[in-house]
Amino acid sequence: MTAPDGLRAVDVLTVVAVTAPTPTVRRVVLTGTAEAVAAAGPTVNLLVPRVDDPAPRWPQVARDGRVVWPVGSHGVALRSYTARRQDPARGEVEIDFVLHGDGPAAAWAAAAAPGGVLGIAGSGDLGVRPAATVLLAGDETALPAISRILAEAAPATTGLALVEVAGPEEEQPLVAPTGVTVRWLHRGDTPPGESTLLADAVAGLDPAGDDVFAWVGAESAAVRAIRADLRSRWGLGRAQHHAIGYWRHGRPMSPAG
Ligand SMILES: Cc1cc2nc3c(=O)[nH]c(=O)nc-3n(C[C@H](O)[C@H](O)[C@H](O)COP(=O)(O)OP(=O)(O)OC[C@H]3O[C@@H](n4cnc5c(N)ncnc54)[C@H](O)[C@@H]3O)c2cc1C
Repeated sequence: MTAPDGLRAVDVLTVVAVTAPTPTVRRVVLTGTAEAVAAAGPTVNLLVPRVDDPAPRWPQVARDGRVVWPVGSHGVALRSYTARRQDPARGEVEIDFVLHGDGPAAAWAAAAAPGGVLGIAGSGDLGVRPAATVLLAGDETALPAISRILAEAAPATTGLALVEVAGPEEEQPLVAPTGVTVRWLHRGDTPPGESTLLADAVAGLDPAGDDVFAWVGAESAAVRAIRADLRSRWGLGRAQHHAIGYWRHGRPMSPAG
């Protein structure tokens, strides 16, 4: 509900289940009203409380979508994630969190248990456009987005999805059009953010035809290298690619927390 000052309360979702589809991913199922679930994706701005804070001091949201933080200490961090599944009829949203170690969101996910809460402060699309041929490139943080893009692609779509993960144990089943090849890249002992696998793999490809769309989500330096390649060697214009840094090596993603 919107108050006379134009500020509205954030939607709050409650954890109902937590599973581990791979060793470093926690899959958290959250429940809320049908409206809140429908509005919680595909990309979603999560308000992540401190671990073990049962009554977080949530911010509010202004008419223009701005997050208005409470005065003083609140311990709530704002982070972007992807709803890999949204089911308003069942009132469920599913989010895969990579457990990378540090960071309020990773720590929250590592400790998540039924009854826990997360706030939602807005959402956006995945930035993908339909095309005859797609190039998708991402690491494990982009896997939820890539799984949605592939599942929603037209059956006649052709192309390639490159996904960098630590090893075979981090691969996940993907539903894709038969004309799209999924290629897993294993960085092994190289720490995340220090591998050039993804950028090297794109650099080794021949540019696809005219009706192509490239989608990239990974660590920022890798995305910068791939974006430069797509714009120069592939000659892709702004409408033909979406390449954004999903996380920054050695730096938190948001100053808000
Ligand atoms: C549109 C969008 C959608 C996203 N969707 C997802 C998603 O569905 N699932 C998901 O897991 N992530 C997703 N991310 C990435 C996620 O927002 C970042 O990983 C974020 O930094 C995690 O916040 P944090 O509080 O855990 O760590 P932060 O406080 O942001 O960072 C703390 C430290 O952890 C490091 N770090 C952050 N992420 C990683 C990582 N993946 N591997 C290794 N080190 C890391 C940072 O470099 C920093 O040193 C998405 C990002 C964007 C922009």
